[in-house]
Amino acid sequence: MPWLDRLILALNRLRTRRPQSGLSPDEILLLLPRCLQKRTCAEQVTEDLARCRACGACSLGALQETARRTGIRTLVAAGGRQAAQMARAPGIRAIVSVACPKELAEGIVAVFPTRVYAIENESPAGPCVDTRVDAEAVGRILATLLGSPA
Ligand code: SF4
Repeated sequence: MPWLDRLILALNRLRTRRPQSGLSPDEILLLLPRCLQKRTCAEQVTEDLARCRACGACSLGALQETARRTGIRTLVAAGGRQAAQMARAPGIRAIVSVACPKELAEGIVAVFPTRVYAIENESPAGPCVDTRVDAEAVGRILATLLGSPA
């Protein structure tokens, strides 16, 4: 990882170590990369996570259920520009972002000063394909931001 990305992520960890709390669901955006979707899945979840059938074959299923239960805003982003555009939508006060370190660092800079709670995805099948994320970790930070169980 380039030193600048490492520095941005380290500073961001310091900035978000005391998370906000008591936010309303529509003030929170869960930003997800398209590569979380199982490559063989035919559902059109890009932009609309609600189209995921939660079959359990990839991490999006659990995240979709969490999003539905909590009512937060979500975006499965086709690219960084679209993600940054949505992140700057009126009323967004916190972003929970799942991505690789490079994309996380770029996103943190792009949406500053909005706080980004950054969660790195895993790439057991190689970069940018069939990636995974700890959905419970996402649920925990959402619960803190909402001030209620997520
Ligand atoms: S959990 Fe959702 S996105 Fe993943 S494979 Fe199943 S239907 Fe497709």
